[in-house]
Amino acid sequence: MTESTNTETVTCIADGPDCTGDVDYRDALSGTGVAHPRCDKHWQDRLDLEDDLRRRYPAHAPTDFDPTYAGEQWDEDY
Ligand SMILES: [Zn+2]
Repeated sequence: MTESTNTETVTCIADGPDCTGDVDYRDALSGTGVAHPRCDKHWQDRLDLEDDLRRRYPAHAPTDFDPTYAGEQWDEDY
């Protein structure tokens, strides 16, 4: 049994003193399809920001858009 690639430490892209929780790759919300490693806190920050943007620019999302569906995007063909 070999294990060499899955043991490397992932660093949050917003690495800092306020990082909290596990760092993991999170699917991009912006439609780029690139997953960035984020800790629990900064991922939540990102989700909050997305939520805020959606409230400010509601035209970007249909009323039935559900952010809990990971990978669902509304702006993939802008
Ligand atoms: Zn972080």
